[in-house]
Amino acid sequence: MKIAVIGTGYVGLVSGACFAAWGHEVVCVDKNAQKIDGLAHGVVPIYEPGLDELVERHSAAGRLRFTCNLAEALNEASVVFIAVGTPPRAGHGDADLSFVYMAARELAPLIDDDTVVVVKSTVPVGTGDIVQKIIGSVRKTGTFSVASNPEFLREGVAIRDFLEPDRVVIGVEDERAREILMKLYGTSLDAHKTPIVMTQRRTSELIKYAANAFLATKITFINELADLCEQVGSNVSDLALGMGLDKRIGTSFLNAGPGYGGSCFPKDTMALLRTAQDHGVAVRIVEETVTANEARKRRMALKVMDALESDVEGRTIAILGLTFKPDTDDMRDAPSVPLIETLQRFGATIRAHDPVGMENAGRILSDVEFFEDPYECAHNADAVVVITEWDSIRKLDLARLKKSMRQALLIDLRNAFEQGAAEEIGFRVSAIGRPTTARYEVTNSAALPGSKQVRGRRNAEDASFEMAGDSNDNL
Ligand code: NAD
Repeated sequence: MKIAVIGTGYVGLVSGACFAAWGHEVVCVDKNAQKIDGLAHGVVPIYEPGLDELVERHSAAGRLRFTCNLAEALNEASVVFIAVGTPPRAGHGDADLSFVYMAARELAPLIDDDTVVVVKSTVPVGTGDIVQKIIGSVRKTGTFSVASNPEFLREGVAIRDFLEPDRVVIGVEDERAREILMKLYGTSLDAHKTPIVMTQRRTSELIKYAANAFLATKITFINELADLCEQVGSNVSDLALGMGLDKRIGTSFLNAGPGYGGSCFPKDTMALLRTAQDHGVAVRIVEETVTANEARKRRMALKVMDALESDVEGRTIAILGLTFKPDTDDMRDAPSVPLIETLQRFGATIRAHDPVGMENAGRILSDVEFFEDPYECAHNADAVVVITEWDSIRKLDLARLKKSMRQALLIDLRNAFEQGAAEEIGFRVSAIGRPTTARYEVTNSAALPGSKQVRGRRNAEDASFEMAGDSNDNL
């Protein structure tokens, strides 16, 4: 099948490469000439494990091509995917659909008769209807179809998610689109017995938002339970396991952390709320999720300050992990950004390390010193804060890390390290949803700015006793 993909970002590029891997002839088109020029020369603009190899293999086989010329991309394509961005509209929170509508306007006069135009971008209910009208304003009704096929891939494991998805959701309004999309996905996914949910276009559009809002809610639920664990001396990881092994609940998305971020959950929850508001429907659970997550992201800075006894001015803080999650270079809505900016406002000096995200982070953050080497990053630091649980960060030698630090304080916002082991080495540990049993140890007290006497806590009992007047909320 000949396929065109409009928008060569995380979704468009992965989709295009994977369709090519299924043996289709794919042309990816983008307005960003630099991106297309790089791809034409084998330079993949994003970090996604396995993507370089896939692009190289299928480009070499002539099944995958890149262009800025839309007419060339659409030539003889029987399916055209729109995979452009739908960022939040500044100051409004709903999805900015201008890129989708622009793509529809541009492709309308160029497609062949009987082409199926598929909206893969995450779009609010009814967007397919508008795309249909836009194309219908320059083409005869019945000569084209508009379908919805939301994408559920996760950055970091995008290729596996695309090639072996849990399900494929397809929304159609006519038989031609149903047949072509069944042929496209059905044949390729047969071996994995992947369920295909074939539904109306409007339902398909809403499924994507419902799924993301549900996952965001699950994360927020465990994050709030983590706060409770800290207050009552329980361990959130064991709690999540004990809950999650119940098949009705499931263990995934029950890792407590600094709050969800990334390019999808924050914007998609907001957009769902907007749709619900526009239709006079209350989805209170999503409202609460959004509010709780925003508050949590802000509170993480207070958690760091708390661990530093509110003495942040002039302190050096080493940040390990900047991207919104491991195995991606995506910094969109990463929790590291508000955390770092708040600490800077309180006078901290920030050093940071991320295995692949430093270039993108450098475009967003200012006055941060970046280090390729995590040990060098921790040099003379008063605290190390783990924000993203990259494998390479989990595997760091804590004893070596501690040696170069001014003060052995580990604030582990992902529970990436075993708390007991870190404490054995001499770290004072502030983790998520764990009773704090930390001893306080100053590695080199002379080097501490405004060195002062710090409370010591010996065990969970002491910790819960002290915690009564020690809530992050009060700071
Ligand atoms: P992105 O910003 O990485 O890429 C979008 C690309 O579209 C850019 O390269 C841009 O130059 C290009 N573009 C915009 N208008 C164009 C036009 N008229 N013609 C040609 N190219 C154009 O976005 P993304 O992360 O790939 O997301 C795309 C869509 O998929 C969004 O709706 C997003 O919500 C959804 N989605 C994203 C993910 C993810 O993990 N990133 C997962 C599932 C769904």
